[in-house]
Amino acid sequence: MIRVLLLVVFLCVSAVQAQGKVYVLLWFDTEDYIEPSSDDAALRLATDLRQLGVRATFKVVGEKARVLEKRGRKDVIAALRWHEIGYHTNFHSVPPTPAVYLRTMDYQSGAEEFQRREQTGLKDVSRIFGVSPTCYGQPGSSWAPQTNRALRRMGIPMYLDEGSHVGVGHQPFWYGGMFYLFDMGPYVMRASLNGDDFDASCRKFDQAVAQLSAEGGGVISIYYHPCEFATTEFWDGVNFSHGADPTPAAWKRPRARSREDSERCHRILARYVKHALANPAVRFVTGSQLMSLYQPQLPAAAVDRKVVAEHMAAQETFLVVGKTSLSAADMLLILLEIEPRFVEGPVSEGKTTYSRASIDRPRFEKAKAETVAYIRAHGRLPASVWLGSETLSLEDFAATLAVDSDGTGELDVKKGKPKFREYVSKEPAEAFDWVIHPKDFRAPELLDLARLQAWTLKPAVMK
Ligand SMILES: [Zn+2]
Repeated sequence: MIRVLLLVVFLCVSAVQAQGKVYVLLWFDTEDYIEPSSDDAALRLATDLRQLGVRATFKVVGEKARVLEKRGRKDVIAALRWHEIGYHTNFHSVPPTPAVYLRTMDYQSGAEEFQRREQTGLKDVSRIFGVSPTCYGQPGSSWAPQTNRALRRMGIPMYLDEGSHVGVGHQPFWYGGMFYLFDMGPYVMRASLNGDDFDASCRKFDQAVAQLSAEGGGVISIYYHPCEFATTEFWDGVNFSHGADPTPAAWKRPRARSREDSERCHRILARYVKHALANPAVRFVTGSQLMSLYQPQLPAAAVDRKVVAEHMAAQETFLVVGKTSLSAADMLLILLEIEPRFVEGPVSEGKTTYSRASIDRPRFEKAKAETVAYIRAHGRLPASVWLGSETLSLEDFAATLAVDSDGTGELDVKKGKPKFREYVSKEPAEAFDWVIHPKDFRAPELLDLARLQAWTLKPAVMK
């Protein structure tokens, strides 16, 4: 009898697994430090969700944390702490925002500057909430690739936000050494707080769950701001639009919602969450819980050098073999016989000046050895590789290395096809569109830097 029961249980579990779980990450950018009623909105959201047994992720602004402390809102701090705490910059919309000051900075000095500006806020959020924030997301669309390097140094492993700057298949990915939930496309879902499309939102949610579930599982990203439940306009739009920087004494309070209207918004979100909870395929997770469901960044299983070489010879971009995901950088390390480790992409554009069609063996072996030494010393890939006083761009070097199957004789120089670059936006106006940025702000330089770092890009694979 027990065996029959166990079999039934096993079959049920298998059926659910074949359908695939859909993980919903519900996150709140907790940022309004001007309007006090947004503190109450955050408290109410945290309390309602706890009653539903749902843990959300609250990304908190440094100044918001300090203001909660100053206003004596221990109740809000305790309620949010039951959930998970992320970090959302020190001042959010006070200029210059990250993309604005990082636009003209290189990869390394930009990372240092971001860390200098942001470590106070991170320290305050950590101290006030008594936890280390698990994730970061940019204010508005003020994304920049240098933040990856800084965040790793600041001990934050996950990038949680939404944007179009970089992405892979609208699901989680690894980029710049960070676990990213970003560019989720059709899997970013919300029920409008206006309430006019509630049933349509629920249907859309169910369709997305069914689709992801049929594909073996996936992730849905839902986000709001506590201030949306308290005011009808954004706290920063009324003060910092188009790069404006009024003194704190001149800050205006955003228009408040009436008590009934605010209540109505809270009821919409509670209904939407209850709708999601009723779906047996759905599980709510926090940022760190989601990350733990995925394979770690470094490839656990060895992948055959031949498979890697064939892939890299055809095109330079990530490769998923079974449960192992490899970035172009991971594969270059395999071709160079360097043990798996995270390395950054090049920090500048490389160039091929070498003009002959072939390279003699001793020269190429020396170039390989020097490249290995460079990567070990700097923890990043070089922009180009020296052949005497001439160079091969990293792409061309990698392509040439990939076709070097027997390791003997002269080599034909191959042109690299860095397909990984296509996963970074080519729309500098659209990607950085945000009412807080200066008028007509665009940052093609940041997207160029981002394309170089796309050597590290690869889909995240669920365990
Ligand atoms: Zn924000």
